[in-house]
Amino acid sequence: MRVKIVLECTECHDRNYVTTKNKQKHPERIEVMKYCPRLKKYTLHKETK
Ligand SMILES: [Zn+2]
Repeated sequence: MRVKIVLECTECHDRNYVTTKNKQKHPERIEVMKYCPRLKKYTLHKETK
């Protein structure tokens, strides 16, 4: 079962991405490197709640 999540930039706190994840596979909050349009570079994005 996949759930919809929002990924927030840890540096500027923009919510840049909406994606889905597998809750069985990743029960915790996921963290991924994503491109931030505001900072124009790759930053760590974390799942919001
Ligand atoms: Zn950012």
